[in-house]
Amino acid sequence: MNDIERCIALFESKAPLVALLAPSFPVCYSYPLIVARLKKLGFKAVIEVSAGAVKTNEQVAALLKKNPTARYISSPCAGFVRMVRKSYPQLVPFLAFAADSPMIATARIAKEKYPDCQPVFIGPCFAKKLEGLEDYPDLNILVLTYKELDAVFGHFKVGENIDASGATFDIATASTRIYPMDGGLTITSGLKGILKDEEIRIVSGYKNIPAVLEEFQRNPKIRFVDVLFCEGGCINGPGIISTLSLDERKRRIADYQKSMDAEHP
Ligand code: SF4
Repeated sequence: MNDIERCIALFESKAPLVALLAPSFPVCYSYPLIVARLKKLGFKAVIEVSAGAVKTNEQVAALLKKNPTARYISSPCAGFVRMVRKSYPQLVPFLAFAADSPMIATARIAKEKYPDCQPVFIGPCFAKKLEGLEDYPDLNILVLTYKELDAVFGHFKVGENIDASGATFDIATASTRIYPMDGGLTITSGLKGILKDEEIRIVSGYKNIPAVLEEFQRNPKIRFVDVLFCEGGCINGPGIISTLSLDERKRRIADYQKSMDAEHP
């Protein structure tokens, strides 16, 4: 059974589910229509994963403040974490695992608020499936890509022609909506107020990562590396179907953030 079939079977058995919607969703879907469609599918609640990203940020900032000489490499990107484990095992101790990824932090929020529901993370990433299965099996997260969600919508014939008035996130937050773009963690967590510019490196795109990791190993002054495996960040993840350019995707995230500031500050 694949994850599309698994999700369909869960809905057909009336299992209680809560949707965790990744912050890259505006690349593929409009708001609030996406929330209305997810509720129509049968999700009991829909949570913006940006809410978990706030926890990630707090945990990363706390790590850096606690020990002024400690050095970290960000760990929310499941693809990058797997790259480090395979090709740079000597750097595993630097991964900031003490901070949950936004998906994991949001799943913990969901477990607390909706303890009877299984969390279903919906996002742009296939590697998140491995993060859920291998690293946090106790949270029992089903991970769907946007492509897979479209297949589930298709199966239940939930199209775009539905009334979305009044649809809104059950848990939302404004401060981290640029998270899926490169540098999103550094900018939204206020790390520039904790570290000097020369102590931070931001990189995205798997081809660009080795040079930064090599610099991190050579230069002990670098205290934090903010890494996303996909070029430009999660807005360019492999689970997205889109013909939009990277700039257009960034604009969609920025527009969404602006439009939501008033609704969910
Ligand atoms: S940058 Fe790519 S591999 Fe990393 S979490 Fe985002 S979509 Fe997944």
